[in-house]
Amino acid sequence: MRGEDEIKSRVVGVDISINNTTYAIVDIRGNIIAEDNFPTSDYSNISDFVTKLSESILQQMEENGGYETIRSIGVSCPSASFLTGSIVNAPNLPWKGNIPLAAMLRDRLGLAVGIANDAHVSAMGEYAYGSAHGMKNFIVISLGVGLGSCFYSEGHEHQGFGGYAGEFGHTCVHEFGRKCACGKEGCLEAYCAANGIVQTAQELLAATDAPSLLRDQERLSPRIIASCCSQGDAIALEVYRKMGSTLGLGLANYASLLSPQAIILTGGISHAAEWFLDSLLESFERNVFQTIRDKVLILVSKLNDHEREVLGASALAWEIPEYSLFR
Ligand SMILES: [Zn+2]
Repeated sequence: MRGEDEIKSRVVGVDISINNTTYAIVDIRGNIIAEDNFPTSDYSNISDFVTKLSESILQQMEENGGYETIRSIGVSCPSASFLTGSIVNAPNLPWKGNIPLAAMLRDRLGLAVGIANDAHVSAMGEYAYGSAHGMKNFIVISLGVGLGSCFYSEGHEHQGFGGYAGEFGHTCVHEFGRKCACGKEGCLEAYCAANGIVQTAQELLAATDAPSLLRDQERLSPRIIASCCSQGDAIALEVYRKMGSTLGLGLANYASLLSPQAIILTGGISHAAEWFLDSLLESFERNVFQTIRDKVLILVSKLNDHEREVLGASALAWEIPEYSLFR
């Protein structure tokens, strides 16, 4: 039996992203005590990656209160399943096939490890520390390289059979439309995530000879297109107007099915909301079922992207049962 003073008051939150892996010690109130990161892409072999991450976490624990203060570890990673603890065929990560990451880390660290995909972890971050605090039914959308989503129903995230629920980005918005990275045609992601936004810009530029700041750019990205919007460029503004309109249609279908209290937009592209939110809201209200119209809050997250993932991963760490080899 453990005494009061032995209750562990900290967890480790890990965010594995395509470019960087961030790991942080977070206390029970959501304060980030220590945080560091290393480039994910330097470790193309999964076993080298697990070694690097385990050693880094152990060192961080040692420098910040010790191993014995840490209860458990939560990990956010694209294409991960909470139910299996594995990453499966992540299209944007260097490791292919089925990677049982939770078990690998648990064996190295001797602590319980929970892993979930980045969209689910984002939603947990919003629920524990962000815009969804106190809500029971809400949807979190992440807009970036991909388009992810997670929904909470009655205070619990919906995992679905096998843990793969929420692939909103791969719902069809145009039959026989653009080819998507997933192999299908007409997916929402092919219009409203990074590559889709750039493709819309290229199509609009090709269809006219009108001058545009976009023509002077070495390469196009959602961020560059947004900066051209702020300079009043008509084609750049049209790119985000179209994106918002398509996303609004998709969200109207989503909301008509689930009747959420709020939809929270997160991710790098959500920072361009001032350029797409009007057309999104117009399309959303036009397409959503009448009983739901005017009842759904559409919000842009107030947490910064980086903070949300680490805090969400820490919230995940609190949800899993403790584990120790020595008890
Ligand atoms: Zn797709």
